Amino acid sequence: MNYASNKRRRDDVVSRVANADVDHRFCRIAGCGNPTRAGSNSGLNRLYCRAHEDYFQRHGSYVKGSYPASLLAPYRKRALAWLEANRTDRRVALAIQRIRSLYQRAGAKVEAFRLAGLSPEDRARAAWARLRVAEVDPMLPIAAWLAIERAIANDPQPDTKIEFKRVQAAKLVHRMASGTHKRWERTGPGGRVLVEEMHKYPASRGRVLRHIGEQLALACEVLPADLKF
Ligand SMILES: [Zn+2]
Repeated sequence: MNYASNKRRRDDVVSRVANADVDHRFCRIAGCGNPTRAGSNSGLNRLYCRAHEDYFQRHGSYVKGSYPASLLAPYRKRALAWLEANRTDRRVALAIQRIRSLYQRAGAKVEAFRLAGLSPEDRARAAWARLRVAEVDPMLPIAAWLAIERAIANDPQPDTKIEFKRVQAAKLVHRMASGTHKRWERTGPGGRVLVEEMHKYPASRGRVLRHIGEQLALACEVLPADLKF
């Protein structure tokens, strides 16, 4: 190895790094044109702008929005009916057992207004604990997973990445026993009794959804892939 070829190699690396910087100034979503968070010096994300990064946190896709509840409802209903009709199937029983185990290992229920400081892992556990405390049938999260699989399979323009499937299913699970609701009375002016209420829902976005989705996927992987419902 001589000096000249070393220098050539080094120059090549330097120029490639410089060009990469130029490439990463703008969001890579076609037609977006916003600066990336790295380009605008507001974060470490070098590929997407803040709006697309936010979108991804909410939906699990940079371009595909969440499926509306009305689109998913018939899939969820049919999936649940199929699960109920096949509850003695060894694989269905095993998936149910895995969800029950997530419920049992989730620890104590955490009120929604205490979730803020927790890690995504702990918030995922708290979500399973809420389902356990609310006695949500373990078949419902499984039906949610199957419904999302079917919705993606029937979508003419799907996002086929595993991330999207997990986040979409996790959003359904996250919503099943969501929120802390408190109601109290106090005496107002003139001795009138005033009823006050507080509703606090955990935010349905970010890494907590990735964790829930991954755990749900693991529970459901025992089900047959060619399931008809
Ligand atoms: Zn963008």
